Amino acid sequence: THCEKRLRIEGLNAFYGDSHVLHGIDLHVERGELVTLLGRNGAGKTTTLRAIMGLVERRGDIRFDGADLSRLPPHKIARFGIGYVPEERGIFSSLDVTENLLLPPTIKPGGMTIEEIYTLFPNLKERAGSQGTKLSGGEQQMLAMARILRTGADFLLLDEVTEGLAPVIIEQIGIAIGLLKERGFTILLVEQNFPFASRIADRHYVVENGRVVDMVAKDDLNDPGVAERLHSFLGV
Ligand code: ATP
Repeated sequence: THCEKRLRIEGLNAFYGDSHVLHGIDLHVERGELVTLLGRNGAGKTTTLRAIMGLVERRGDIRFDGADLSRLPPHKIARFGIGYVPEERGIFSSLDVTENLLLPPTIKPGGMTIEEIYTLFPNLKERAGSQGTKLSGGEQQMLAMARILRTGADFLLLDEVTEGLAPVIIEQIGIAIGLLKERGFTILLVEQNFPFASRIADRHYVVENGRVVDMVAKDDLNDPGVAERLHSFLGV
């Protein structure tokens, strides 16, 4: 197997003012891989995504396709085709679905057309003329993801895309993520829903107190010892 590293992070530290939150995160994501960040509330998963995106004060090595991102501002990081879908979805509530999809600028060639978006998320097609405020939580989540896909980003940072959603919607989002992976997208996903994460991901990192404390590949999950170790970290 080829192992071309798209993202390689070494010794990543992050800070909110005087509060030192990440203490030397090491991780990598290979091209086409789907990797999750697992861990309890407050472990530092969201902050890791924010640090990659340049949205929080950080120190350490962040390499993307060989380029050094560690001193770049968010808009320059986005130009590499890195798209961030934060937990608070931030869609425009006064605009309808199609209008929301027409807003994002193209950052990199290869952004999905509205038609491609509607094939990926059939629910959104049905709701094309509905205002943002009228959408269900699941539809809002799909729209937040779809907007990033319009920009041409092909490396996705997704924060808790399943949070608070019904199982049937989680299933649909899982299918969409699987299709993106087939199209060659590389994805780093923060997830609290371990059953969901384990169904879709190639590899998992466990974050605790701002450090990576474990790394588990999909195939290792069948090992009872590994499963038990993971469960003790996650408290599930
Ligand atoms: P969660 O699922 O609860 O978001 P997480 O693993 O994503 O968990 P982070 O949101 O990265 O955790 O938070 C890591 C630590 O940073 C926590 O102790 C949190 O209280 C702190 N923190 C997060 N945001 C801020 C902020 N804006 N200012 C100060 N501290 C913050």
